Amino acid sequence: MDIACDLLVLADVVVTQDDERRVIHDGAVAIHGDTITAVGTRAEIEPLANADRVLDLGAAMLLPGLVNAHSHVAMSLFRGLADDLPLMEWLSDHIWPVEKRLTPRMVHLGALLACAEMIASGTTCFSDMYLLEHEVAAAAEATGMRAVVAEGVITTPTMTYATPEEGYALIERLHRRYDGHPLVSTAVMAHAVYTTSPTMLKDSFALAGRLDAPFMLHAAESAEETRQCVEAFGMRPIAHLESLGLLSPRTTLFHCVDVTMDEIALLAERGTAVVHCPESNMKLGNGFAPVQKMLDAGVRVGLGTDGAASNNDLSMFREMGSAARIQKAYRGDPSVLNEKSVLDMATIGSAHALRLPGLGRIAAGFRADMCALDMSCPNLMPLHDPVSQAVYAATGGEVRLTMVNGRVLYMDGRFLALDHEALVEEARDVAAWVAEGGIC
Ligand SMILES: [Zn+2]
Repeated sequence: MDIACDLLVLADVVVTQDDERRVIHDGAVAIHGDTITAVGTRAEIEPLANADRVLDLGAAMLLPGLVNAHSHVAMSLFRGLADDLPLMEWLSDHIWPVEKRLTPRMVHLGALLACAEMIASGTTCFSDMYLLEHEVAAAAEATGMRAVVAEGVITTPTMTYATPEEGYALIERLHRRYDGHPLVSTAVMAHAVYTTSPTMLKDSFALAGRLDAPFMLHAAESAEETRQCVEAFGMRPIAHLESLGLLSPRTTLFHCVDVTMDEIALLAERGTAVVHCPESNMKLGNGFAPVQKMLDAGVRVGLGTDGAASNNDLSMFREMGSAARIQKAYRGDPSVLNEKSVLDMATIGSAHALRLPGLGRIAAGFRADMCALDMSCPNLMPLHDPVSQAVYAATGGEVRLTMVNGRVLYMDGRFLALDHEALVEEARDVAAWVAEGGIC
């Protein structure tokens, strides 16, 4: 029987991330519209797929598009503006004051820059919490990226809402605007237990339920957060969230660095997912998230870069390498968090954390979101183990192809859906704006 196919992608290696975690040599992926319709060897698929177009990548490794499950993409604007500071000081003295002066255009530009960086490094989907989130959604739409966007819920008035009710109304409007959109969806994201009151946490969780949207927040990011939470509420962050009834399969927590074994067991019991952000945790000196223990306990874990101001790059390939390495250093055991677990986190785990089950695999019925590494790059030769190469050796700079929903967004160094030259010009505007004192 013929396979429905308008684009056939051929590559020397296809890392499928399917149930058997098949790695196919001399592979072929048939795509019809936005969906993968068949995956196999070239010999199996090519005769059955009467494709309109064939994209033969040759010496390339095709992987599911990487899913960046936690970011603040507009913070690309602040990359390198304030480094080497502890979390609370970094936020209070450097990030929050400058964010008060943001404009819609600046958020849009920051998001465009981030989308360009992510597309060029093989990321096909990101989740985002920020201010003026409609601009982030517009940037995702303009660049062809998949995104889960959320206006952050925080107790103090922001530039977009003065009261909680206004904030919830804004979130509902954004949700309605993108309901049924092929690429952009919304979530409800509260900032953290130290910035969002218990009432607002409960109300925003209830709103997520009404919208049938994911609920997410930063949690247990640092020992200092735990200290503040105990002081304010007499409980550690995870216990605080549990007492408010917020731990559920709808909930995804970012970071979870300062968590005990009992708390990990509770997250597993409640079906609450975690997004691991190792480079941000390292850069802010927040410590080591016990990710292998979470996985052992049955917690579903995704991977995210966090914002570019605390990383300072958005490459998920680098994030995967860091995740694997830091866990071994932390545990004093090279066998923990192997490359397969890390690739699972960046694909299937992140898709689960965002409640997007159609992503993260190259398999029939899944969305045609993929990336390809150039296997002729010196740092990727010779090829013994494709997954090892992707996790430990690739940086993201070797990405040849990025495809979202069956559309090629990036190929051999060229952006096909965004105007890179215009972006270079506009990035100069950002630098000028900073120099004029617009930010600092
Ligand atoms: Zn964050």
